[in-house]
Amino acid sequence: MDFYLLAFMLIILTGSVLVYIYYLKEKKEQLDSIRRGFCPQCKQNSIELTDQRSGGCSTPELLSFVCLECGYTNSFAIDNREACGSGRCK
Ligand SMILES: [Zn+2]
Repeated sequence: MDFYLLAFMLIILTGSVLVYIYYLKEKKEQLDSIRRGFCPQCKQNSIELTDQRSGGCSTPELLSFVCLECGYTNSFAIDNREACGSGRCK
């Protein structure tokens, strides 16, 4: 195995892991903002839940939000296993 190729692959791998972690962090911050009722983009109190899908206990719940002010839209997969454990699952 070529050392340079190996080093290159390692850099790519590390890079993609970092990007993924950053993406998750971004996503979490946006969700935190939305949960407080604010749009992560324009900071207006105009966020609305447009879609809520749940596939049951084993799959995460999918929530879609839209901002009425700036048109920001995003979906979040919420792990609802906690809800299942506490007996709130349908
Ligand atoms: Zn907005």
